[in-house]
Amino acid sequence: MRADPEARLGAYHGACACGTVRFFVRADPASSAPCICAKCRGMGLRIVSAARGDFRLLTGQGELTEPISGARTPHHFFCARCGEAAFGFPDGPGGTRVSVNRALLDRGDPDAVDMLAEDAP
Ligand SMILES: [Zn+2]
Ligand SMILES: [Zn+2]
Repeated sequence: MRADPEARLGAYHGACACGTVRFFVRADPASSAPCICAKCRGMGLRIVSAARGDFRLLTGQGELTEPISGARTPHHFFCARCGEAAFGFPDGPGGTRVSVNRALLDRGDPDAVDMLAEDAP
């Protein structure tokens, strides 16, 4: 899987439960991992890591909560309306990576879901 990471990257639209926060990301949902922060762990939330340059927030800029941050806690932004974790910057706001909530990708564009199915072995 590490040999050719670009091959599994797909383009996805993510949306929070209420649809306020929407974003575009190029990522590999199959590479999701449990979020390590205290808030998410109990919820079984999984995140997908992507390059910062492959992420674009489309709507909801003004509806995001303040990031939660701590020594072992990735930055997280939550939708202020539905409270769902949307995305975060694991290495800080100026970092090179973004981690998105895997669950949001499931509500993405149907075409993107089809792409995922085609990619499956
Ligand atoms: Zn929401
Ligand atoms: Zn978390």
